[in-house]
Amino acid sequence: MLKVASLGSGSKGNSTLIATNQATVMVDCGFTLKETVKRLERLDIQPGSIDAILVTHEHQDHISGVGPLSRKFGIPVWSTRGSLLSGKCGNLTHYSIIEGFQRFQIADIDILPISVPHDAREPCQYLFNSSDKRLAVLTDLGSYTPEIINLLKSCHGVLLECNHDEDMLWNGPYPYSLKQRVGGPLGHMSNRQAIKLLQNITTDKLELLIASHISEQNNCSKLVQSSVAEAINWPLEDVIIAEQDKGFDWFTLT
Ligand SMILES: [Zn+2]
Ligand SMILES: [Zn+2]
Repeated sequence: MLKVASLGSGSKGNSTLIATNQATVMVDCGFTLKETVKRLERLDIQPGSIDAILVTHEHQDHISGVGPLSRKFGIPVWSTRGSLLSGKCGNLTHYSIIEGFQRFQIADIDILPISVPHDAREPCQYLFNSSDKRLAVLTDLGSYTPEIINLLKSCHGVLLECNHDEDMLWNGPYPYSLKQRVGGPLGHMSNRQAIKLLQNITTDKLELLIASHISEQNNCSKLVQSSVAEAINWPLEDVIIAEQDKGFDWFTLT
């Protein structure tokens, strides 16, 4: 059994939970301590029961709550050296350094950090493997690589960034330099890019698809849901949306 839930996703904060019968792992924490505890309560999780916090990169919407949560509840942090050297976690007493494409284990979860193109020091996303089920969590990437296509092809569940609609971004209110950053190869995944990737990796195996890190300014959940569903020929309601406010409740791969 491998399950996934989200405390929220978007530029105002991200945090995803992965759990098995033996362990609960948090990917990123971009919320304040108070907000994180409140959101965990909605999922009936005691903060002290979290076995590890995995960091993807040092941008505020992913890392701001990592240090405070780790210190308050004694939760160990797993991070690349680059993300840790950003200093954004503050002083940590319990941490482990990981490297891209070097797998590690937490209880019964086998975890592979996936290096991704993004404008941070040493960003990585994660592939989780437990009881023969595979789940990829992949946000904050400006483009995708052949390794990413290969890894995602074997997944039963994929949480994928659908950050912006390209027309909305380029015709929208962002300053030109920010449009270039977001839309560039080290920025964020557009709906078009996500769809292209999904068309490469959607196999009979794939049973859970979650669109995440959706921009409030430059995208719209309904548009993501309809264009993704149509492109991969899935029922609309089967494309799950990770919301900024509510995230999403547990989904189990069995
Ligand atoms: Zn982000
Ligand atoms: Zn980022």
